[in-house]
Amino acid sequence: MKAAVLEDLNRIVVKEVPDPDVDDHSALMRVEAVSICGSDARILHHGNPRVNPPAIIGHEAAGVIVEAGKAVTRVKEGDRVAIGADVPCGQCRWCRDALGNNCAINYAVGYQIPGAFAEYMKLPRLVLEEGPVTHIGDHLGFDEAALAEPLACAINGLELVNMSLGKTVVIVGLGPIGSMMIDLARVMGATTVIAAQRSQARMKIARFYEADVYIDTSTEDLIARCLEETGGEGPDIVITACGSVEVHEQAVEMVAHRGYVNLFGGLRKDARPMSLLSNTIHYKECFVTGSHGSVPRHHQLAVQLLEKGMVRVAPLITHHFPLVDINRGFEVMEGRQGMKITIHPHAT
Ligand SMILES: [Zn+2]
Ligand SMILES: [Zn+2]
Repeated sequence: MKAAVLEDLNRIVVKEVPDPDVDDHSALMRVEAVSICGSDARILHHGNPRVNPPAIIGHEAAGVIVEAGKAVTRVKEGDRVAIGADVPCGQCRWCRDALGNNCAINYAVGYQIPGAFAEYMKLPRLVLEEGPVTHIGDHLGFDEAALAEPLACAINGLELVNMSLGKTVVIVGLGPIGSMMIDLARVMGATTVIAAQRSQARMKIARFYEADVYIDTSTEDLIARCLEETGGEGPDIVITACGSVEVHEQAVEMVAHRGYVNLFGGLRKDARPMSLLSNTIHYKECFVTGSHGSVPRHHQLAVQLLEKGMVRVAPLITHHFPLVDINRGFEVMEGRQGMKITIHPHAT
């Protein structure tokens, strides 16, 4: 089969590799769509301790099962499925408590487990038994189904901030995840969504979601505007869907008393430490949370929300490339002109 192989830092080569072998306990998925994640770009340029080149990365995928081993019960030939990233080991304390994204080993598709930037992807036993493998209905397209993975991460983030009916939510950073969070926050009860973004190209796409307020942080003061929009009280919930430590600090500074902050976007390894007066948290009695990845339950919820049209992701898919042009896909994504870049491994 053809696969995009990460051979070294900054080097992905599309080439023929042996087809994965399927034993009694594994299955083979024909990859119909796989989108490029920000973390794929980080792996490409900076490496990751869980990825050992030569490796096939890519974890936001959907496809069709074309072969299933004799002992496999979770999927069968012909099933349409979406695949997520984090795979619980099933054994450690966190996995036993259904918190597998915090797993002591932290297996993931496209990391230790060969991923989906290929024509076919093997679903090994652990992925089939513990991992995010979710059936999708006939009417949900593969391109959208592949985005169940980032949506699952968004659900995890919003579950950790005490969402309920009537909340005012600020989302800072309208990349693909921040944008889908506008729909998701509403589904989870927000009555006011304030969305903030710096780059114009992304702001334009994010306007599809019709947040109550859009703040252009390249020209407007984020904190002043959020206070103004909330009668000086500050928002109930602030989500930082971007990689900026300044925004982490601003989030804590502006959140309402008893409010919640989720530090959703990770920072570069060399980012400076967050600086804040701990008395801010003390006197506000606010809650500062973080989140990363998701568990299989979130992936199932994500697929349901996509199938019912409760969270819309189609407008975020701005570019499509065949596998041979995957490097071009990375360039477009990193140029921040597009939002989601979807690879179709079988297209030419
Ligand atoms: Zn991802
Ligand atoms: Zn575990």
